[in-house]
Amino acid sequence: MVFEGLANRLQDTFNRLRGKGKLGESDVKEAMREVRLALLEADVNFKVVKDFVEKVRERAVGQEVLQSLTPGQHVIKIVNEELTALMGGEQAKLAVTKPPTVIMMVGLQGAGKTTHVGKLARLLQKERKKPLLVAGDIYRPAAIKQLQVLGEQLDAEVFSLGDQVSPVEIAKQALHHATIHGHDYVLIDTAGRLHIDEQLMDELQRVKSEVNPDEILLVVDAMTGQDAVNVAQSFHSQLAVTGAILTKLDGDTRGGAALSIRAVTGIPIKYAGIGEKIDAIEPFHPDRMASRILGMGDVLTLIEKAQANIDKDKAMEMERKLRNADFTLDDFLDQLQQVKQLGPLDQLLGMMPGMNKAMKGLQNANVDEKQIGRVEAIIRSMTPIERIEPKVIDSSRRKRIAKGSGTTVQDVNRLLKQFEEMQKMMKQFSGMAKKMKKGKKGK
Ligand code: GDP
Repeated sequence: MVFEGLANRLQDTFNRLRGKGKLGESDVKEAMREVRLALLEADVNFKVVKDFVEKVRERAVGQEVLQSLTPGQHVIKIVNEELTALMGGEQAKLAVTKPPTVIMMVGLQGAGKTTHVGKLARLLQKERKKPLLVAGDIYRPAAIKQLQVLGEQLDAEVFSLGDQVSPVEIAKQALHHATIHGHDYVLIDTAGRLHIDEQLMDELQRVKSEVNPDEILLVVDAMTGQDAVNVAQSFHSQLAVTGAILTKLDGDTRGGAALSIRAVTGIPIKYAGIGEKIDAIEPFHPDRMASRILGMGDVLTLIEKAQANIDKDKAMEMERKLRNADFTLDDFLDQLQQVKQLGPLDQLLGMMPGMNKAMKGLQNANVDEKQIGRVEAIIRSMTPIERIEPKVIDSSRRKRIAKGSGTTVQDVNRLLKQFEEMQKMMKQFSGMAKKMKKGKKGK
C-alpha cells in the first residue's frame, strides 16, 4: 500500500503523543526526531525533511499547543497541514482552455506514458469530453500498437502516421485533425529514453514549439524514489513542465517521490497512477494524501469511487456518520460490503479512518477476503440492538454470536475491541475536523 511504512511509523509516534496528557518541549522534540527518521526512511529528500521538521517543531512548541487540553491532537493537526502544504496544498487541476486543449506527455521509457495517455483519456471521457490520442512515440517498438489497443478499448480515436514521420510533423497534423473534427483534448504520447539525453530533449523541445501545448505533463515512476525527483528536475529545466503524473504509486510503499517532488522542483502533482488497469488513476489531492498517511482515512476519495457503485444518498449519510463518529456495527458491515465492490482491498482500507490499524489486528498482517468474511459473519450473528449498542454484548451473548457465526469467542472479542478503538479514534478525528473547519472559517 502507498506510504505503508511511513504511515505506520507516524501513526505509532502520534499514538504515543496522544496518550500523554500534557506535552513538554522534550516530548515534541522526541516526536520530531521520530518524524524525521520516518521521513528519511521513506526516502524523502533530506533537505525537504529538514525544512519540514523545523516548520512543524516551530509551530508545535508554541504556547497555544503545549497548553491546550489535547496537545497531541494539536501536533497531529500541524503535521497534517504541513504534509498537505508539502505536497502542494490545493489540488492542481488541468488547464482550462479553448478546445482543443493540447497535452504533451513526457518522461523516461517505462514510466507509464502510454498507459497514462489511455487513463487520462478515460477520465476525460467520463466528463463527456472527446480526446484524440496521438501516437508520437515512433521509436519504442510496439508503442503505437499499444496506443491503438487502448484507443479501441476506450472507443477513442488514435491519430498515427506510422513510425517513418517525425514526431514534430505528427503532432502538427494531429492538432490540425483535432481542430477540424471537434476534439476537446489532444493527448500526445512522446518517446522516452532510458536516460535523459540531448537528442530526446531537443526533439521534445521542437514538438513543444510546434504545437505550443497547454500542458506538458511529466510522467514519473514513483517507485524510483529520489531518482524520480532528479529526473523531474532535468525535464523541468529544459521543458518547463506544467504538472506531473506520479505513476505506480500502488507499488510505492515508501512515498519519497510523492513527498519530495513538489517541494524540490515546484512541479505540481496533478494525477496519481495506482495500478495497471485503465481506470487506475486518481486526481492528486494533497490534503487527502496527508490524511491517508496519518491514518485519518480518505473518505472523500472513497465516496467518489463508491459513487459509481452505490447510491449517493447512502454515501453522503455515511460521510456524515463518519464525521460525527456515530456509526454502528451495521454501518461497519455496510462499509465492508461496499468496499468489496470497489477494488483491491488493501488500497481501499487505507482510505478508511482507523481501518489500516483495525484490520491489521485481525490476523496481524494480510487483509484477505476470508477475514472480511469472518467479520461479516460475526456482525450478521448479532441482533439489531447489539449492532447499535455493542456494550450490551455480555459473555453469554458473545458465546451465542461465536456459535452463530462459526467463529470463536476470541474472534468476537477481538472485533468488538477493534470496533471500540476505531470509534474512539474517529471521535478524536471528528473533533479535530470540526476544529480545523472553525480555524478555516476564522481566517
Ligand atoms: P512508457 O514507456 O512510458 O510509455 O510506459 P508504459 O505506459 O508502456 O508503461 C510501462 C509499464 O508500467 C507497463 O507494464 C504498465 O502496465 C506499467 N504501469 C504504468 N502505470 C502503472 C501504475 O500506475 N501502476 C502499476 N502497477 N503499473 C503501471
